[in-house]
Amino acid sequence: MEGLEDMWGHLSLTEEEEVIIEVDNGSGEEIQRKGERSMIGKVCFERYVGKDVIGNTMARIWRISKRAVFQEVERNTFVVTFATHADKERVLEGKPWLFDNVLFILVPYDGIMQPRRIAFDHETFWIQIHRLPLGCMSTEWGKWIGDSVGRCMEVDVESDGVGWGKCLRVKVEMLLCKAIVRGRFINVQGKKLWIHFRYEKLPKICFTCGWITHGEEGCSV
Ligand SMILES: [Zn+2]
Repeated sequence: MEGLEDMWGHLSLTEEEEVIIEVDNGSGEEIQRKGERSMIGKVCFERYVGKDVIGNTMARIWRISKRAVFQEVERNTFVVTFATHADKERVLEGKPWLFDNVLFILVPYDGIMQPRRIAFDHETFWIQIHRLPLGCMSTEWGKWIGDSVGRCMEVDVESDGVGWGKCLRVKVEMLLCKAIVRGRFINVQGKKLWIHFRYEKLPKICFTCGWITHGEEGCSV
């Protein structure tokens, strides 16, 4: 059954509807300031999650100065407003965040985007790269490997660019609508080696297709 809004969609615009409301400075100062302390978040949960439930849960998880305010703007999608910029930065730094083992994706607010049109198709993860030769535990190698998975944002190394330890950690912005990769082959001086990835704070993934989240359509495999 088509909704009234869908049926209306087939009609062409009337002259009255084509009039554009134009304002020089899109939004007032107050709303802009509030926007700068806000982010848009989506819980990738099949069931409906109310703003109090997600608000209470995140209040326990986030170590910030004051409780963030949640406003529902779409199903399972919220504007999250922080008391201070420092709180917002802290939450941004600590991504990804999970709610009941599913992702709570957070994207910066730009004042223009319509919540319904935000893709929520990427998120930041810390990946531990295991079994790397010591000679490859560096900023360069971290960046090469990280960029092969998504967009490498940071490599956890000492000030000299060396990251010796049990693993090399890289922060990567990853697309969610593809199967998660378990590792990579690297070629070091003619030797082919398999290196293994471990994801920190990995949510429940779909074991059929390996994706972290599905859209409204669900699993396509
Ligand atoms: Zn799937």
